[in-house]
Amino acid sequence: MKIAIIGAGLGGLVFGAYAAKDGHEVLIFDKNNKPGGVVALLEHEGYKFEQGPLLLGDMLEGEPVYELLKEFGITLETQRADRDIIMPDYDMVKDDEYKGPYWRREKLKELFPESKKGIDEYYRFYDDMMELRYISTLPDSMMKKLRLAIAFLKVKKYANMTAEELSMHFFKNKKIATLFTGIFADFCADPNEVQGLGIAFTNFETAFDKRIPLEKNGKKYYPGFCFITGGCQKLPEALANYIETHNGITKYNTIVEKVKIENGKACGVYLQDGSEIEADMVVGCGSGKDFFENAVGLDNLDDTYRKILREYRPMEAVFMLHLGVDYDPMQYMKSSLYYCYGMYDLHSATENLRKGKYHGGKDGYLIFVPSYHAPEFAPEGKHCVTIYTVAPDQLCDGTWEEKKREYADELIKLAEKQLPDLSKHITGMKIMTAEDYRTYTHMRKSSFGGVVPIWNQQNPPHVTPVRSLYFVGQQSENAGGVGAVMLGAKAAYEKAFKK
Ligand SMILES: Cc1cc2nc3c(=O)[nH]c(=O)nc-3n(C[C@H](O)[C@H](O)[C@H](O)COP(=O)(O)OP(=O)(O)OC[C@H]3O[C@@H](n4cnc5c(N)ncnc54)[C@H](O)[C@@H]3O)c2cc1C
Repeated sequence: MKIAIIGAGLGGLVFGAYAAKDGHEVLIFDKNNKPGGVVALLEHEGYKFEQGPLLLGDMLEGEPVYELLKEFGITLETQRADRDIIMPDYDMVKDDEYKGPYWRREKLKELFPESKKGIDEYYRFYDDMMELRYISTLPDSMMKKLRLAIAFLKVKKYANMTAEELSMHFFKNKKIATLFTGIFADFCADPNEVQGLGIAFTNFETAFDKRIPLEKNGKKYYPGFCFITGGCQKLPEALANYIETHNGITKYNTIVEKVKIENGKACGVYLQDGSEIEADMVVGCGSGKDFFENAVGLDNLDDTYRKILREYRPMEAVFMLHLGVDYDPMQYMKSSLYYCYGMYDLHSATENLRKGKYHGGKDGYLIFVPSYHAPEFAPEGKHCVTIYTVAPDQLCDGTWEEKKREYADELIKLAEKQLPDLSKHITGMKIMTAEDYRTYTHMRKSSFGGVVPIWNQQNPPHVTPVRSLYFVGQQSENAGGVGAVMLGAKAAYEKAFKK
């Protein structure tokens, strides 16, 4: 079967790799000059930067993406990694001396002795959720079903709470609650919109200290986080290479304009240069709204699919500074990634973002040092620093092009709280705005990570009402992310071929 895939991001590549493995004729088109979409490395004035992902989940040995890659004979070298959090008036930065898997719980109790009971209650909930998660990773059996049901009973009482309700139930204190729910603001979600149980999965303790063992009672129990040695680009390169060595063709610098549909079935694509490519199956990705409105045509869908497209909410954009520096930022940081929050009011932060009001970094930002894991990304004696924050796709006052220099200076000034004298050590800078990402990802509205994880929201499904047309990628998965996109594309392939 001939399969035309639009987009060589991780979604398209994983679908393509499975198809190539099964002997199908794969043809992948991408508007950029290399594979990877937002995980491709950005090169600027002798420095290399991760455009998108910082920490990756599901990639360590035995984890789902590791196992997925193994099916193609791909094993990538990874380094366990973690992050620290700075709150407006306290921090959760690890000590040099390892203080055990629950050091954050103990530190919180020291900082907030009046909330001791709630903090302990939260960590019991966390342990119960980890047990539930662990059981879900075991092979299917009647015993597994029974164990899952018993484990679920322990957390059932929280199942109807939102993230806001659950965090306030435990902590009764916004300062602690925001430590656990701040990540939802990064996803452009108000904690009132997100299911509470999700808090345990967005706050794996192993994400905050890579020294925490992933094993319990001799078994792999907790998920770990990592950086791919040599950068995330290694991942799409390996998949593209697999496709090419299995008779697939990757065509870069090529834009697909439309999907060819006849009698309710996808049967090829039209390229921007006017040429037409016949295919037995077509796979799309990117922005669901753009893809179905422009390339497919809403008339070819049914009411259910059109309703989903109208109602689902993609995340907003990012404002990103990639800096070359001539000093070592790690002299001031305990991990290569800091999440710095500037407020405790996540409702206003999300609301403003949706209204197009940029916070100038005051609501929060991230600092990442890719050259810590990959010294070869920077010239000898130099380092790479990325500072970024979530930002509206469209500003309510002005354009990103007009404002970007002023906003860059503001963000650098704020980051000097963590990296003293940063502005005096900058040797190179590349600013990435929503406008740049729109062009790069071929989206009318830039959306950095996928879909806002709103409770009960439906995302555009992999299987579309057009026969032989499938949809993969960040906007088909809640909250997107490398692992979710790759596993989602695998699931889409299995649905397409009824495996
Ligand atoms: C700033 C940022 C930070 C992130 N941080 C993390 C993180 O820490 N951890 C994590 O797991 N994930 C993170 N992510 C998310 C993760 O990287 C993405 O969800 C995932 O890589 C998206 O893959 P994709 O295949 O859906 O899309 P993309 O990577 O966007 O790839 C789609 C490709 O298709 C091309 N394309 C689309 N339409 C057409 C067309 N019609 N013709 C030709 N080409 C087309 C696009 O140009 C693009 O190259 C981050 C993303 C960003 C941007």
